[in-house]
Amino acid sequence: MKRRTVSILGATGSVGTSTLDLIERHPDRFEVVALTAARNVEALADAARRTNARLAVIDDETRLAELRQRLQGSGCRAATGKEALAEAAAGEAEWVMAAIVGCAGLEPVMAAIEAGRTVALANKESLVTAGALMTQAAARSGAEILPVDSEHNAIFQCLAGNRPGDVAKLVLTASGGPFRTKSRDEMAAMTPEQAVAHPNWSMGAKISVDSATMMNKGLELIEAHHLFGLPSERIEILVHPQSVIHSMVEYVDGSVLAQLGSPDMRIPIAHALAWPERIDTPAQRLDLARIAKLTFEAPDFERFPALQAARSALEAGGSAPTALNAANEEAVSAFLQRRIGFLDIIGIVLETIARTGVSAPQSIAEVIDIDRKARAMANNLMREMAA
Ligand code: NAD
Ligand code: MG
Repeated sequence: MKRRTVSILGATGSVGTSTLDLIERHPDRFEVVALTAARNVEALADAARRTNARLAVIDDETRLAELRQRLQGSGCRAATGKEALAEAAAGEAEWVMAAIVGCAGLEPVMAAIEAGRTVALANKESLVTAGALMTQAAARSGAEILPVDSEHNAIFQCLAGNRPGDVAKLVLTASGGPFRTKSRDEMAAMTPEQAVAHPNWSMGAKISVDSATMMNKGLELIEAHHLFGLPSERIEILVHPQSVIHSMVEYVDGSVLAQLGSPDMRIPIAHALAWPERIDTPAQRLDLARIAKLTFEAPDFERFPALQAARSALEAGGSAPTALNAANEEAVSAFLQRRIGFLDIIGIVLETIARTGVSAPQSIAEVIDIDRKARAMANNLMREMAA
């Protein structure tokens, strides 16, 4: 059998290492072409050697010499810079895992889409910030976008074999994050350590903070709109603390299809990796008798204003989600560096959106410009706050 050639953008992160774990369990099915990382040369070189990758790209150019040295004799080329990243995304690999965190992943994802690759999309921020341009490009090139985010992967699975016109609504489930039962007053004092301690999932720092504010679910609402083409009012958010049902699709006849599984990202990653086939994973099997109870609650929009902020940005359209995402990335990063408090994150996001007008970007270059201005605005606001 011909092996599927794969590239992993963001190979050293949480999703990236889970992807590598699956690939290394199935050496007969996958052949690694390229791997990329921001700064961790050691992990990148190690993964490149283990998988016989042909190209390793490091974002931090000051570490290129070290990467080259670590790869000596391996047959793997070390590189840095935008062009090398685009080569990793749109070069030889048929299948590309987009697992860079944040808007930094936008340009390589677009390169893979424009080259007609099968794109396994974990990097939700790229779709939030430039959703319409991205889905239009995929329609033009024939690129397949396979959702890796567990909720969207669940919906993708529940849609298979049904007509899009028969869908009544999507139900995105949310764990509620580590602060699900906390009051606003309690949240005000929460530290980065408390925010990244997710009850069910082990993830990168940025998405963990997004889970605590529930901005993650807000971003996922926008992501679902772009992936599945439904309007805001037909995408519902439902809190389900056990994270066993990963999302649901309700059809016009009243049938509701759900996808279940233990909360292990290797399940949705494996689905995208082998699609349209399936491969086995080491993920723990569901033991529903032991779990015994699945519970559900309506989301609390007062304690988690990020949910409404994201819904409003989706409904405003154009540049609003770009500004929301950019301000959120900057505010989360400031929170992780202890420059602002937990509740300031949403304050910065709302104020940045209020101060940026809504425009309709027609190109990725325009999106990047809006993103840059919104980041500058958010940082100005944080400086004002600190003064
Ligand atoms: P992470 O922080 O663990 O890893 C991010 C990866 O991107 C690393 O390999 C890092 O080196 C690379 N990177 C970061 N900044 C970069 C830059 N400026 N240029 C190039 N590379 C850069 O993040 P993660 O938790 O693996 O999340 C990755 C993406 O997947 C995010 O968009 C996240 O929302 C999404 N996602 C993650 C999970 C999860 O369980 N971790 C679940 C669903 C969706
Ligand atoms: Mg998710």
